[in-house]
Amino acid sequence: MSKYKAIILDRDGTLNKDRGYVHKIDDFELLPGIIEGLTLLKNDYLFFIITNQSGIGKDYYSIEDFWKFNNHLTSVLKKKGITIEKTYFCPHKKEDNCDCRKPKTKFIKEILSLYIIDLNNSWVIGDHPSDILLGVNGGLKTIYLLTGHGNKHAKELKEKKIKPTFVANNFLDAARYIKSHSK
Ligand SMILES: [Mg+2]
Ligand SMILES: [Zn+2]
Repeated sequence: MSKYKAIILDRDGTLNKDRGYVHKIDDFELLPGIIEGLTLLKNDYLFFIITNQSGIGKDYYSIEDFWKFNNHLTSVLKKKGITIEKTYFCPHKKEDNCDCRKPKTKFIKEILSLYIIDLNNSWVIGDHPSDILLGVNGGLKTIYLLTGHGNKHAKELKEKKIKPTFVANNFLDAARYIKSHSK
């Protein structure tokens, strides 16, 4: 049976501009290079989103608000011929100690229960150290983006000795890196 390769995408600060607990369609803004980057990869990889949404647990917005915003994002991508297979979100606060908040790997396990994935040749892309840890914990390669919160948290990577496979200035650089290192 043939295996799929996957790219697990963080959402806020990776695909769309992170305005802090972003959830209103009016605040939706795709970051530069997303369409071009995903188009470069779409024939070789399945795309998933895994996103921490503690704003739900904090009652800043509802699960319904979350899906409205997320459906908007995925439909914008769809119009450009890009499919997100599935979106997973953790609605909990950090202190809830749930088993789905990144860098925990519950959602990766769920993906693996639905698809046969070649993890060694799959990637996590994100702008937060917890995205890189998610990839490390799940056995995927990782790209740390300096967009979104990336710059702000870059020294945390060093302090905690978290090593992404690659550090990219933006999404298109990330996509080009993956494309050129694709097996
Ligand atoms: Mg992010
Ligand atoms: Zn959770």
